[in-house]
Amino acid sequence: MGNHEVSFSKEEDEIIWCGSKNGCYLVKVGITLLERDAKVKEWESKICWNNACLLKVGAFAWLAGNKRILSGDRLKKMGFAGPFRCVLCEKAEEDVDHLLLNCEFAQKAWLFGLQRLNWMDPMAGKLCEWLESWPSLGKNSIFAAIWKILPSTVLCELWKERNQRVFDGRAENCQ
Ligand SMILES: [Zn+2]
Repeated sequence: MGNHEVSFSKEEDEIIWCGSKNGCYLVKVGITLLERDAKVKEWESKICWNNACLLKVGAFAWLAGNKRILSGDRLKKMGFAGPFRCVLCEKAEEDVDHLLLNCEFAQKAWLFGLQRLNWMDPMAGKLCEWLESWPSLGKNSIFAAIWKILPSTVLCELWKERNQRVFDGRAENCQ
């Protein structure tokens, strides 16, 4: 084993910020680096992380939109043996897109919310694309707050209903 000498300089320690060339912290540069590293998608800030949405409801919407909930498709990938039929319709395999958007039960739930806001019918397809297509309303709109919480609330309620059927054997209608 070789000898390694460690020597300390006699100068005072100082804090150097690696984000800038001169080692000084700048708020503007800090925010730019944060935004670059955080990679928050537009739909996530619109639907999950807005000021009208409860944190746990928004967090669930984030998990669902990023396919991180423990739906049948994910359980299968984790090695659990199925079958994972959709308990809302009993007609299809359970995956995130089906359960929370394409299922006839889910479509009715979305429609129920959307009709009250006089908006279009829910689309079918990929849940993340549906969430990406969610428009922003002007701050002054009386519907703005409802609009912000509607998607995350519908997603949460569908998941609650699914879990109630899976774990408690109880079923509600979609309203
Ligand atoms: Zn279904």
